Amino acid sequence: MRNTVSMRAPLLGRLPIVFAFLLTFVFLSNVYAKDTSASAAAISDAKIQSVLMEAYEKYKNDDSGKNADYIKELAIVDPKIFGISIVTADGKVYEVGDTEAAVSIQSISKVFTAALVMQEKGAKFLQEKIGANATGLAFNSVIAIELHGRTASNPFVNAGAIQSTSWIKAKNSKERWNKIYANMNDYAGRKLSFNEKVYISEVNDNKSNQAIAKLLDANNLMGSDPLEATTVYTKQCSVNVAAHDLGMMGAALANHGVNPVTGKRVLNREYVPKLLAVMATAGLYDNAGDWLYVTGTPAKSGVGGGILAVVPGKLAIGVVSPPLDKYGNSVRGQKAAIYIIEKLGLNPLAQ
Ligand code: GLN
Repeated sequence: MRNTVSMRAPLLGRLPIVFAFLLTFVFLSNVYAKDTSASAAAISDAKIQSVLMEAYEKYKNDDSGKNADYIKELAIVDPKIFGISIVTADGKVYEVGDTEAAVSIQSISKVFTAALVMQEKGAKFLQEKIGANATGLAFNSVIAIELHGRTASNPFVNAGAIQSTSWIKAKNSKERWNKIYANMNDYAGRKLSFNEKVYISEVNDNKSNQAIAKLLDANNLMGSDPLEATTVYTKQCSVNVAAHDLGMMGAALANHGVNPVTGKRVLNREYVPKLLAVMATAGLYDNAGDWLYVTGTPAKSGVGGGILAVVPGKLAIGVVSPPLDKYGNSVRGQKAAIYIIEKLGLNPLAQ
């Protein structure tokens, strides 16, 4: 009994000191939390919501840029469509605007077909056979191929993308297309619709892509018939996606290769950083350097007006807004994503 009392007495005597320690600890942990808020894994729901709304409000009336028109069907897509979707690596979705309005995926499809090439043939094959360097030139440049020893340089210019398509293992082009389509559906976690009108519009008018494929074939760089591969490539570009889908597809990459909602592994973990590296190098074509300078994120755009940015391990931002800049990248898509990345302190190079 006495012992118990005597043990308590000194503690009571030290109470002010214990209290002071506690106060100091609470104070310091707050300071620490503030200092590291930019790199903290958890950003509150409310913060994400409010920054998303701000980005939407800020740019909803921005009508700069112009729809792509070299594919006739793209010129008549409603330029007012504007949807932003943020999907976290654990599958939480935050959205605003026309997030279910679909446009053709176009060049963003190149990411998922390149991923499938890696999945089937490994990262070394993609680097050695197609490449991982920027061309510094437009996505459909022919001179870029000549300049770089008749190679495509990377899988995100048309040349490298048609090459990727040609290397998907299949006994014929139908099977090749089915695999590519199924793969994109797995990333999106739902069956994406197919835009027949866009496909017809482009397939009848893709002679320079055919020429590019032939040129690469002359250098023994194609895995299957070059014209067949160009047709399958044109098909993959004609798959519809909404901002919601782009967010989800990107989230599978942010989540190290697993779709966070369906739980399906779509890419081996070891390949994810390789794919993201090429997105950082060449995702926005000849504007890729400026984009990386500002956001630090791997990203990919398409002339349909979609754009997808990945913050590895954290989240993805998908935006759809058809008017493009001179490089072929969505104007509002870039502005909205830049705003969100900056306001939420998401730049991966600043962590
Ligand atoms: N299908 C388009 C083309 O081959 C894709 C281009 C893009 O989105 N940058 O030109």
